[in-house]
Amino acid sequence: MRPEDILVPSPSGVCCKLGGFHIDPTRPVERAVITHAHSDHARAGHGAVLATRETLDLMRLRCGENFAGSSQAMAYGESVNLDGARITLHPAGHVLGSAQVAVDANGLRAVASGDYKNVADPTCAPFELVRCDLFITEATFALPVFRHGDPDAEIAKLVHSMALFPERAHLVGAYSLGKAQRVIALLRKAGYQAPIYLHGAMQAISDYYIKRGIPLGDLRLARGASKADLAGTITLCPPSALNDLWTRRFPDPLAAFASGWMRVRARARQQGVALPLVISDHADWNGLTETIAATGASEIWVTHGQEDALVHWCAARGLKGRPLDIVGYGEEVDEIADTAANEAENESAAPSFLFDENRRDGDGRA
Ligand SMILES: [Zn+2]
Ligand SMILES: [Zn+2]
Repeated sequence: MRPEDILVPSPSGVCCKLGGFHIDPTRPVERAVITHAHSDHARAGHGAVLATRETLDLMRLRCGENFAGSSQAMAYGESVNLDGARITLHPAGHVLGSAQVAVDANGLRAVASGDYKNVADPTCAPFELVRCDLFITEATFALPVFRHGDPDAEIAKLVHSMALFPERAHLVGAYSLGKAQRVIALLRKAGYQAPIYLHGAMQAISDYYIKRGIPLGDLRLARGASKADLAGTITLCPPSALNDLWTRRFPDPLAAFASGWMRVRARARQQGVALPLVISDHADWNGLTETIAATGASEIWVTHGQEDALVHWCAARGLKGRPLDIVGYGEEVDEIADTAANEAENESAAPSFLFDENRRDGDGRA
């Protein structure tokens, strides 16, 4: 048996024929193992779903109770056997609950990493390196030009801008699952204690992070605040809301955007972002190549768009690199549509436990 016999690419995602399951399938299948809850990886409508408890809970939040026929939660490090294929989940360091899927069969191991980053993130378990024979990597930022740098330094830019413009409202565009909570946690780590305001699309997910023991401090809904209250504050919102009528409720808003794409100046300018913050939940070029080398894998499969440079890099090192042509991954686009839907849903939803009556009435800014 060769490592590529454990997993095979298929149009609906990578498939383990032996175990009878797909990993992050893009179409409904009988049995799915899901790496994390971003909408392009975690689609509704599968028969049975295996994932971490957090991923299952976040799928339920996003897609409703009936997101799958049945579900089974697995902790990191735990294993299950499916018809001769042993599955183990390991932290991917991408967002809360994100996992790499290791599949062992006949003494060989394949690892599907999903999305990952090998830098510290206060909101999720750190990436765990798993030695393997076949490694499936993402390639979102797989060009040497992408070096993400230090997220704390990016947060310091935001705090500095707050001091420079104390009357303006700072709006920070961030994806609602993972990035938003990471930005909040990084602000708290930097000593920023004031209330942080949220767009409605981020409420349920942020509540869930808090419930799972990630401290995010005093969070409030922007829609519950007056224009005057919002002067000198930070509000997080989906990137799509930055250019929306929604921003009219803020006094002299200043647009920031936390994304690995902010390394591309033209992109920031084009989106009207005055304060680009290079903070990414994906590994950069160094992170990808270091990780691939460290897995010891001789065969590398590459997904997510920028496959070419990474496949080329593999060839230069004597590794067998192969682009996977699976259509449907790339949350940077999907997640915007997703949050727009969340917004419509959440704007009418009742406030959850985070935003209790006392907090909303007793505005601590006095
Ligand atoms: Zn993702
Ligand atoms: Zn992805």
